[in-house]
Order: sequence, then structure tokens, then C-alpha cells
Amino acid sequence: MKRILITVVIALTVNFGWAQKNLKKDIENIEPKVIEWRRHFHENPELSNREFNTAKKIADHLKSLGMTVKTGVAKTGVIGILKGRKPGKVVALRADIDALPVTERTDVPFKSNVTTEFLGTQTGVMHACGHDTHIAILMGVAEVLAKNNNFPGTVKFIFQPAEEGAPPGEEGGAELMVKEGALENPKVDAIFGLHIGAGIDVGKIQYKPGGAMAAAQRFVINVKGKQTHGSSPWSGVDPIVVSAKIIDGLQTIISRESPLTQEAAVISVGKISGGTRNNIIPESTELIGTIRTLDYNMQKLINNRMKEMVPAIAKAYNAEATVSIAKGVPITYNNLELTAKTLPSLEKAVGKENVILSKAITGAEDFSFFQQQVPGFYFFIGGKPLDTKTEDAAPHHTPDFYIDESGLILGVKTFTQIVYDYLGK
Ligand SMILES: [Zn+2]
Ligand SMILES: [Zn+2]
Repeated sequence: MKRILITVVIALTVNFGWAQKNLKKDIENIEPKVIEWRRHFHENPELSNREFNTAKKIADHLKSLGMTVKTGVAKTGVIGILKGRKPGKVVALRADIDALPVTERTDVPFKSNVTTEFLGTQTGVMHACGHDTHIAILMGVAEVLAKNNNFPGTVKFIFQPAEEGAPPGEEGGAELMVKEGALENPKVDAIFGLHIGAGIDVGKIQYKPGGAMAAAQRFVINVKGKQTHGSSPWSGVDPIVVSAKIIDGLQTIISRESPLTQEAAVISVGKISGGTRNNIIPESTELIGTIRTLDYNMQKLINNRMKEMVPAIAKAYNAEATVSIAKGVPITYNNLELTAKTLPSLEKAVGKENVILSKAITGAEDFSFFQQQVPGFYFFIGGKPLDTKTEDAAPHHTPDFYIDESGLILGVKTFTQIVYDYLGK
């Protein structure tokens, strides 16, 4: 019995060394496939919650690797489960898979010519945030790890729809995936995600511990005044002037009351509606905007102060105002312990000099819903050609958005390294 055990242990150790050598070669060999997949998805983009063909191609690939595959999670999401050779922890890797209603203007040969109707308007469809690269990278990681499954534990590949937001009236994205049990059966111990950056040099990784991307909350303010003739404002209550005072007041919550050396915070009013013509003071106005925070105490402070200030300002001018603030998307919060533990994996994958500690971003990312449930780490990889100046790189969500594909393999390398290190030997 003892002898058999020893033989098994030796066989496993030897096999592991052999597997590691293969791993390096397999990662190198997967690059043309990853680029080919990326181009396929780029040419065939699908909007949030409509990623039917995208999901099918992903599921077919995972099935071909012999994984257990769940489809239709959060509408079009796909989950692949890859078991290692021994029991152990469960690690999840996540890629978002949706495109945007943007008409592509690049001249790449795999340019998207897809058009569709979105909210009543005819538009082009484009992977203008780079989620096509995320899918291709994760499909590559799946293939590499399926071939080299000499690790303890389980890897869960989560392909998530609707990161950019479900169409009005629909649920979707990471929140719905969590609700539908994406992190259960088997229960995930830690989750990792990445985003390609059109403004980050190819070959570089950027990360930030703690609050890395902001919480985003939509708010609606309704101001009620009293309608009157524009020539005699004293006979009514002008909700437009009151709106101006409210907008002004909101900015002081940021500039005078928020501890800005701790983290950044933003309140923006993006839409004001009210009134019909030049000489009528209207009955009411509506203000819609967004709050961005990187710290939950600051979020609480800003939310509370808005709820106090908005009705109080209105009252000071004899008007009434209500404010409703949505729960919104949480902070993309990189668990401090997990970040520290993952940093060596990033450095091993791309070299210490290429791993850059960055500032927080006031954009939001629904990966945060996963991070609310389990420790998670989210980072950025470079997609900007080295000969393009940062200021010349087209931003995400724009028609000229462009990614240097030579950066993709770095995503495969990094995810693979993270999995091996996290699951251990
Ligand atoms: Zn985006
Ligand atoms: Zn994105």
C-alpha cells in the first residue's frame, strides 16, 4: 500500500514538471487562435442580452474541451467548469461578452458592418469596449488549462452578458448572474477579471488595490413649482431657477464636504427637462444624473447630504423637491489580501517592470457584483500600440476604438499564472 502511494506521488510530481513545460508551449501556440477568435467576435458583435451567436460559439468551444457547460445563465451567459486532477479551491475567471451601439470607423479587415435598431434608432454595432478581446483571451485560457489540468481544484469560466447594461426593462449582467447562482455549485473562493485598455501600452498591466473603479448611482430629482406667465414670475414659483440652485448646491457636497484626499467623488447632472416655451414658467422640472464614489462611507455621506439638501434648497425658494437615488453598481473593490497575493503572479507573467500601480477610475464595472459576494481582483492589460501617443488613442465606446492584438497573449499568460498560483500545487 505504502509503495503504491510513493509511486503515485512521484508520478504526479514528474507529470507536473512535464505539464509546466507544455504549458509554456501551449500558451505560445494558442496566440493565433486567440487572435482569430477575437476577429470573429469583432466582426460579429451582439448587443447586451442579445449575445446569442457569441454564446453559442463560446459554449461549443468549452464543450469541445470536455468541460461541463451551463448555458442561458442570466439570459445568454455561459459557464464552463474545469476540474483539476485533485480536489482543491475553486477559482473563477470572468469575461464580459457584449458589444455597443456604435458604428465602427476603423479600417481593419475584420471591421464590423453589423447594424441594428437600438431604442428606436438605427445604429451600427461594434465591440467598442474590447469585450471581444476578453472573450478570446478567456477561450484561450480555457484551452490551455484544459490541456494542462494538473492542478488541484476547479476553474470556473464565466462568460457574462450585458456588462454595458441590459436594455430598459430587462435584468442582466453580473448582478443577474449572481442571482442565478453563477458563484455556486461549485462555490467560488475567488474571482478574477481583466479589461483591455485602449490607452494602456501593450505589454503593461495596471492594477489598484481597494477601490479601483467607482460605484455608479443614477439619481432623479423632481422639482415642483407653480406655473405662471414668464412676464410675472412673482405670481408663481420658478422650478428652473430652483433647479439651478440645486445643481449648484450638489457641487458643494463634492467640493466642500467630501474628504477628497481619501478618494475622488463625482456628482454630474446629465439631463434637465422642463418647460415648453419662452414665456411660460413651467410647473415642474426633472434632473437626472450620476454619482460616482470609490468609498462606501463617502457614498453614504453624499447620498444622505443630497437627500437633506435637495428638499431644503427647494423649500428655501417656496418649491418642493424629491430625490431618488438608485442602488446602482457597487465599487469595483480589489480585496486587499487577494491583491497582495496576486501581485507576484502578475509580475511572473509579464515582468515586474511591466506591472504598474495605477490611480482609481471613476468609470464603473459590474464585475463589482461578483466582488460583493467573494474576494475578487480586477486589473487592466495594455492594448495601445507603442507608436500611438496616449492622447491619440481613441477612447473606449467610440467609432475609432482600436486594440493592438499583440497584447492579447499577455491576458492568457496572466490568467493562467493566476490560476496556477492561486490553486497551488
Ligand atoms: Zn464599456
Ligand atoms: Zn468594457
